[in-house]
Amino acid sequence: MPEPKVLLATHNQHKVAEIREILVAALPGFSPTMLISAADLEIPEPVEDATSFAGNALIKAGEAARAAGIPALADDSGIRVDILGGAPGIFSARWSGKHGADRENLELLLAQLADVPEGSRGANFTCTAALALPDGRWKTCSGQIYGSLGFAPAGTNGFGYDPIFVPQGEQRTLAEMTPEEKNRISHRRAAFQRIAPWVGKALGLTSNS
Ligand code: IMP
Repeated sequence: MPEPKVLLATHNQHKVAEIREILVAALPGFSPTMLISAADLEIPEPVEDATSFAGNALIKAGEAARAAGIPALADDSGIRVDILGGAPGIFSARWSGKHGADRENLELLLAQLADVPEGSRGANFTCTAALALPDGRWKTCSGQIYGSLGFAPAGTNGFGYDPIFVPQGEQRTLAEMTPEEKNRISHRRAAFQRIAPWVGKALGLTSNS
């Protein structure tokens, strides 16, 4: 029997390594080589034009599962600021108008919140993981990390809004924590831990009962 495979619909190799590690830890019988990436199969990235994290994650996972003919995983994530009613949300990567402009995005958010006092700066990162099967069935699971936003960037690790996000119970921003410390508590870990049992079923590692 050939080893079953699940495709991760991303070209970001850091994400591949992180999610591989999460699945190996969460799923008995899952070996690192069972997770392959969209870059390995040269699957193009689709347009993410849904209006929710789950919708965008399902676009990516669904297209990849159809193209490859095997189960596929994808995720979509962003930062949700309480006082902004959950924005930037799905617009996190392009909040300043330029896709992937991490520093500009963060500076615009800080400027918008300049007058918001410490006690009203609550925010969370949300990640939705999607699993799609070639026959059209799917499952999504979300994870969050809660915290608050600082008044100035601090730290050089991580990416995106990490330098202004202080997790609950912490004094440091995510960008001041090591990657291992961040990954232990991240929204991405929570989402992929929750979807792991469905990955196990899709790969035949666990029973369907
Ligand atoms: P993606 O779903 O990985 O493409 O992330 C979308 C955007 O959300 C990123 O460009 C970041 O701006 C933001 N984001 C998502 N996860 C994180 C995180 O762990 N730290 C900082 N920013 C994040």
